[in-house]
Order: sequence, then structure tokens, then C-alpha cells
Amino acid sequence: MNAHPPAIVILGNGSLGTARRIQQLYSGSQIHGLATRVDGADLTYTEFGSTLRQLYQQDTPIIALCAAGIVIRTLAPLLLEKGAEPPVLAVAEDGSAVVPLLGGLGGVNVMARDIAAGLDVAAAITTSGELRFGTCLLNPPSGYALGDLELGKRFVSDLLSGESVRIEGAAPWLAEAQLPEDQHAQLAIHVSCAEREPSSNELLIYPRSVLVAVSASGPELASRVRGALHTSGIAVQSLACLLANDTQMADPELHQAATELNVALRFVAAQTSASELAQQALPQLLAPICVGDDIAIVVAPQPLDVQGIGRARGRLAVIGLGPGAAELMVPAVKAELARANDILGYETYVRMAGPFRTDQVQHCTDNREEMQRARHAFELAAQGRSVVVVSSGDPGVFAMASAVLEALHESSNAEWHAVDLEILPGVSASLATAAQAGAPLGHDFCVMSLSDNLKPWDVIERRLELASQADLALAFYNPISRSRPWQLGRALEIVRQHRTPQTPVTLGRDIGRPGQTLRVITLGELTPDQVDMRTMVLIGSSTTCTFPRADGGRWVYTPRWYGEKPQG
Ligand code: SAH
Repeated sequence: MNAHPPAIVILGNGSLGTARRIQQLYSGSQIHGLATRVDGADLTYTEFGSTLRQLYQQDTPIIALCAAGIVIRTLAPLLLEKGAEPPVLAVAEDGSAVVPLLGGLGGVNVMARDIAAGLDVAAAITTSGELRFGTCLLNPPSGYALGDLELGKRFVSDLLSGESVRIEGAAPWLAEAQLPEDQHAQLAIHVSCAEREPSSNELLIYPRSVLVAVSASGPELASRVRGALHTSGIAVQSLACLLANDTQMADPELHQAATELNVALRFVAAQTSASELAQQALPQLLAPICVGDDIAIVVAPQPLDVQGIGRARGRLAVIGLGPGAAELMVPAVKAELARANDILGYETYVRMAGPFRTDQVQHCTDNREEMQRARHAFELAAQGRSVVVVSSGDPGVFAMASAVLEALHESSNAEWHAVDLEILPGVSASLATAAQAGAPLGHDFCVMSLSDNLKPWDVIERRLELASQADLALAFYNPISRSRPWQLGRALEIVRQHRTPQTPVTLGRDIGRPGQTLRVITLGELTPDQVDMRTMVLIGSSTTCTFPRADGGRWVYTPRWYGEKPQG
């Protein structure tokens, strides 16, 4: 089941009433309205297509108040990709029709029924099994796993052709289904965590009620866990969780095993034996079954609430948003933002990274408090939370990644070092600006920040001198600000000693953001008043050249060769 509250997407004010009625059914859901047409939405968007695709890729359930065809055409390019498949529904603007479109195994029909009930209409359910039995047998609720989807489909078609069925084992949710039950039926739905051979007249459903505690890791851990379960006659599908010592939080083999087994990995304070670990996590349960010294199995009477067992390994991702436009944000960053519990960063960037769900906590800070922000991020992640630190562009280019690593380097806190730390790249401002102008950085280039806040000005001058001498193209970040008014002028004096006034200069301001501007001028024309702190300055090398483009602007590029142009 999908954990995110749905996004209700509307195109005009006429849908707002219906949207509000649907919103009341889902706590935390937000109404996304087209900026130019809707007043009073919770969030606004400017581009319907990219907004819908982004929500889909973030695994957010979508309720679009528009024609089904528009939704289908918009999401079509994403459907062949493997990945998230959240529930997607189209709802008529006036609330008269509810059409589940995608996400059958993610509970779309349940949502369609709930929304239809809320709007007092009938849902357009097209899934035969659901229609007949009022539940999707192949989509058991969380806490239960289906044995085999293909066998399951055949089983459901047998049921649909009129056969009756018996239910073995405890399956509370099936009580509500309108199944043709008969004690002597050939077909059986079997609910248990015992290992069982699949057969065509049985639908096997496994309660995810088994925990395996491991006190030692190793390369073959997943197969050892499988072996231990098999020896005890327990189905691997019933495994809900691996449990280990918190001293092993960063052990790659442990994580590999959890990934292979497709189960959660939880931790408790260090214990010597596997059965002690299990007892600490689930003290109310019966003694675990011990299989060897380092593996203990616990079978609970009902599905386990994994989130309540011990704690998770925390995660800290330092992400780059790219210059601003959603299209230039890498998919891994979008996925990270969707899973985050906490988002930290300079307020402008946190706002750019949104919209966020109501269950996600935003910690906005001033731009200058980088080290404090980095330490705060580790404190949150060490509690087992999923934390994102936001930078614009790339987080490793004059941004938060270094601050986060510096904070970790300085810390002797083992819990901080055990955090799952990852840096996710973004399109840096120099590259985004260069791409719009052509290829001004098409050959060797030098990236510099002109800010002397954290480095002495004479170092900057020396580097400028040498980079100019070396005939590298130059990309200046932080070129100027109110507190640093004269530095850019001085920098240009140095560059001009080595470059002709005809050298092409590209100025990109707010690239990828609303109101972006791109200017191609020459070094002779460049004055500091054309530049502000939201500008990227790209200065060509001796080979950088420009030519007119059909739209009236100019292309800028630096050729791949240097010296003599090669033949052909
Ligand atoms: N990590 C960022 C850079 C942060 S330093 C990145 O990789 O892009 C901040 C400087 O980056 C600004 O002073 C400006 O020079 C430049 N910059 C950041 N975003 C920009 C944008 N959208 N357009 C132009 N320049 C930008």
C-alpha cells in the first residue's frame, strides 16, 4: 500500500469544490492548482505535464480532476519504465464520475470506492475480481504477502468462473469479501507462515509475521537466513524484518542481505546472542526458535509492525536541486525528496525543493549557518530518520556536501558515522548556463568562487592570474554581492591582462528559474554592474568563439581542439 497522502490536481476554479470534498477524505492531501487559473489551491504549479509526471515518479497517488485521456497521455511515457506505480484516478470536475486508471496493486480501486462514496456516486471499477468479490484477492493489505501473482491470477479466474472456496487460517480482511465460501470446496485460500508447495487449487497468502535476528553478518547471510527459515518450515515470504546489533548498522553485507530478502532492517542495542537481540526487540513474544548461535527466528501471532521494532538506520542525503527547473532535477533526487522525513536548508532552496507533505518537517535556516545545519542533519539522521540537506545546483560545488563531510570528519560520534550518508549530484549553475549558451566550457576550464568570505583574497588573485595565464575558460560563482562590491572589478583587471577585449563572455542570471536571462557579450563590454549574486559569469579562453543563431541570439562555444584545427 502507498504511504503518501494523495495529490489532488486541478486545472480550473470549477473543480475546487469537488477537490475540497475529496481532500476531506485524506488527511495530509493537498490541492495542486494551475497557477494562472486557480485561486485558493494549497499549492500551485505552472506545467501540468511535468507536475503530474513528477508526482508519479515520487510514488504519490494522483487524483486528477480532468479528462481520463489527458492523464493517460501525460503519464504514458513513464509507464514502460520500471519504478513507482502509485494509484492514479481521474475524477470528473463536477464529481459525477470516479475512474481508477493505474495502480491496481497499489489500492487504486479501494481509493476509487472511497472517493465515490464521499461524492455519492458509483466508482467505475473495471477489475472483474473486485467487482464480484468486493476486494482484490491479489492485493492483500499490508502485513500480508501474496505467494505468486501468476498462480493467483489463474486462481481468481477459476473463482470467477463459478467455483467455491474454503478459507484456511486467519485472514480478517477476507471476512468482508463476498466470497462463495464452502467448507468442501476444491479451491482454498491458505493463510499461514508455514512453507508450502504451491498448487493450482490453492491461493497462498503469507502473514508477514516473522522476524529473524542475526548476531553475525557475512557474505552468505541471505542464503543462511533462507536456510534457517527452511529448516524451521517457515516460508521466506512471511519474513517481515531482519534485526541486528546497532554496532553493525553500517555493515554492507547486512544491508545486502536485507535487500536480497526484500525486508526491512532494524537495529537494537548491542547484545551478544541472536536470541537476546530478538527478546530485546519483541519482549512480549514467546522464546525465539534458535537456529545456530547467530540466527534466531521469532514467529508472531499476527503481522509485525516493523516500524515499531527497534530502530532503522538513519539516512542523510545531500542533494542538488539543479538550477531550479524541475526538469533539470535528477530522478534520484526526486525520489530522495519523496522519502525524506526532514528537509534542511536555506529557505529559498527548501521552498524550491517542495511541495512537501504535511508529515515532512522543513527546517529552514539562514544561508550562513552551514556547519550548524550539517550537525543538525546528523542529529536527526542518527535517530533513524531520513534526512535531506538541500543545495542548489550541485551539492559538491560551493555548497553543503563539504560542510556535511567536514562535520562528520570532526565528529567522533559513532552514531553519526553509522548514518547512511549519500551525496546526490545536480546540474551546477555553470553547466546549466553553458548549455543554454552553447558550449563555452567545451574545453579545459577553471571553476572559481570569487567570494573571499572563507578564503583570503590574495589566494583568489593568484589563482585568477595562473588560470588566466594557462588560457583556461573561466566560470565564476559568487561573482559579487553587497558585502563584496569591488572584488569582481579587480578580478576582471587580472583576466584582461591575459585575454583580448573580444573574448566572449556569457552571463546567466536565474538560469532555470522564472525570469531567467542569458546574455552573450565581450570581455571589453563587461562591467561589474551587469552582474549580481544570482549571476553566473563564464569567460572564454583564446579559442572560444561566437556566431549568430537563427533566433537573433548568439551561440558560444570553445572548440574541442587547441592550436591548429585538425583535418576532417
Ligand atoms: N551549488 C551551486 C552553487 C552555489 S554558489 C551550484 O552548483 O550551482 C552560488 C552561486 O552560484 C551564485 O552566486 C551564482 O553565481 C551561481 N548560481 C547558482 N544558481 C544559479 C542560477 N540559477 N543561475 C545563475 N547562477 C547561479
